[in-house]
Amino acid sequence: MGDNPESLDAARIVRELRNTFRSGLTRSLAWRMMQLRSILKLTQEREGDIKEALAKDGGKSSFEAYTGEIGVIISSCRLALKELKKWTAPQKVSTTLTTFPSSGAIISEPLGVALVISAWNYPFSLSLDPVIGAIAAGNAVVLKPSELAPATSSLLAELVPLYLDTSAIRVVEGGAPETTALLEQKWDKIFYTGNPRIARIVMTAAAKHLTPVTLELGGKCPVIIDSTADLKVAAKRIVSGKWGMHSGQACIAADYILAENSIASSLIDNLRATIQEFYGKDPSKSSDLSRIVNTRHFSRLTELLDDIKTSDKIVHGGERDEKRLYIAPTILRDVSIDSPIMTEEIFGPLLPVLTVDSIDEALELVNSRPKPLALYLFTNKKDVKEKVIAETSSGGMLINDCVLHFANSSLPFGGVGESGMGAYHGKFSFDAFTHKKALLSRSFGGENAARYPPYTASKEKL
Ligand code: NAD
Repeated sequence: MGDNPESLDAARIVRELRNTFRSGLTRSLAWRMMQLRSILKLTQEREGDIKEALAKDGGKSSFEAYTGEIGVIISSCRLALKELKKWTAPQKVSTTLTTFPSSGAIISEPLGVALVISAWNYPFSLSLDPVIGAIAAGNAVVLKPSELAPATSSLLAELVPLYLDTSAIRVVEGGAPETTALLEQKWDKIFYTGNPRIARIVMTAAAKHLTPVTLELGGKCPVIIDSTADLKVAAKRIVSGKWGMHSGQACIAADYILAENSIASSLIDNLRATIQEFYGKDPSKSSDLSRIVNTRHFSRLTELLDDIKTSDKIVHGGERDEKRLYIAPTILRDVSIDSPIMTEEIFGPLLPVLTVDSIDEALELVNSRPKPLALYLFTNKKDVKEKVIAETSSGGMLINDCVLHFANSSLPFGGVGESGMGAYHGKFSFDAFTHKKALLSRSFGGENAARYPPYTASKEKL
């Protein structure tokens, strides 16, 4: 079992883990490999239990549980195991005349004891993916899963001690009080996934000890689509990047669409047809659509829908069933840009489509808002692609698809500005928990009198 929140002694946990870290255990490559293999084993052996917990927590389908969570952890473990020797090897650098003769290298050293605080929407992968980075980099780590995914949180608290070395890897369950107690401790790294409001609490706590943070946040991810896009293909990719992502409860789910005037109606027709093709005439019967996580989020979403300015703008869906925490895939057209649905992160199955006269108008709107975690562009025009890349800032950008950049572990995954700081995935996860130590090494030879006093004008130029 994980540490019981009621008797949580955060100081003791950190002390114990710090002792283990100081013993050098977690630095050993053999230990890191063994823990990574054990995470792989845990994930593969307990696939059924993990799927069951994910279904309990958010009604996730087996397919989504595998592709969005289990498969993610399996690939991350495999990559880290394959690349670890390379990642940990000192990286030679060239040296300068000033330091001649010398050799230079960058040493990847672990930071120490790390805290990972994760969110409810992908509660398995958002918990273990950063932990893989922390372990690969040679740290001790405490994982605090989200209390809003209680089945997954308690499964992690049960499985981690069964598979992993608890002298260096712990799970602490709980919500705000437990996280607050953890945040009062001195950590060497805090990795937080969640909303920007709590991120400010995390960063304030980290500032007290000058602890570095990675903040994986969210925001409103726009989709820009111009008149040259293949609307059929675009609709499939947008629908799967919205409702196929935990019913829009994903940080990189499409949040709103900015469509060029000439194609907006046809795009909506294609989106409607695709929703029906994927989820049937009555999507409430589809087992491929996740449910809303809880009644608080259900009410938040229905309030966005019931907002006086948006209720007459629903052009598809809108049905809801509180008992089953179900909200239909819903499309809204031309809602006011000042309405809550356009100012707050939606994080659910509602998708506003706004029409714009030009790409310039779309860019003006996007750039007047906080920097998003992901920006999606559908176009066939090279100059439009170049313009949007050059004139917008976002954590990541994907052309002619949604969400898939997440699956390329050669790309850093993270936000910018309000959508976060730092990044992870692949080698970037290792780097997020690593200090790059500069090492310059010299022998006792190669003395150069010009560097020492007494200084003269001729020495200055040497
Ligand atoms: P959440 O409610 O699970 O909260 C996240 C974590 O913060 C939890 O572990 C929770 O216990 C902790 N927490 C809650 N209140 C706290 C407090 N007062 N003090 C300290 N800790 C506290 O998740 P959420 O914030 O609702 O997650 C949704 C948000 O996360 C969205 O904005 C989404 O876009 C973002 N998100 C980002 C990513 C990413 O990878 N960038 C992934 C998933 C979600």
